[in-house]
Amino acid sequence: MAICYIGLGSNLEDPRQQVSDALKELQEISNTELLSHSLLYRSDPVGPPGQPDYINAVAKINTSLEPEELLDALQAIEQAHQRVRIEHWGPRTLDLDLLLYANDEIDTERLKVPHPFMTERSFVLYPLAEIEPNLVLPKGDHLSDILVQCPMGTLEPIA
Ligand code: ATP
Ligand code: CA
Ligand code: CA
Repeated sequence: MAICYIGLGSNLEDPRQQVSDALKELQEISNTELLSHSLLYRSDPVGPPGQPDYINAVAKINTSLEPEELLDALQAIEQAHQRVRIEHWGPRTLDLDLLLYANDEIDTERLKVPHPFMTERSFVLYPLAEIEPNLVLPKGDHLSDILVQCPMGTLEPIA
């Protein structure tokens, strides 16, 4: 079994509902157990201007799926939310990123783990620290040390 962290994001079509539904759908993935998840967070959009705010969260799961099988399952959930890719970093109904897969480092065409930008993104780091404050990344960096380099900015937990 592998402990994994999933980053969830949405900024289209009732983002709170999209993320709440996706958390439930993570529980439905075969051979996978949802262990915990963060609060929902609101953040300003990244990428092209004029997009609505983002809602983000991070989930902790335990899975016996292989990394690419897990990615397949995550992409199937994205598809079910009728995600359309119009432009890179553009608005989307649901984005599910595999942040960490056990202590593995993966670099294939389809999958890069740890997620390449996770250590720069407040909307990933703060929800992750909420559920796993003592986390150590595969290269040995402590999440708490990375966090102090990344201002929270306008990110805020919502009820
Ligand atoms: P970013 O990766 O910067 O957050 P994004 O989430 O908008 O951008 P997507 O369009 O969702 O990017 O994904 C593009 C591709 O990234 C996917 O088809 C997938 O194969 C690949 N990918 C590589 N590593 C990962 C990962 N750790 N989690 C999810 N997808 C990944
Ligand atoms: Ca993403
Ligand atoms: Ca993605």
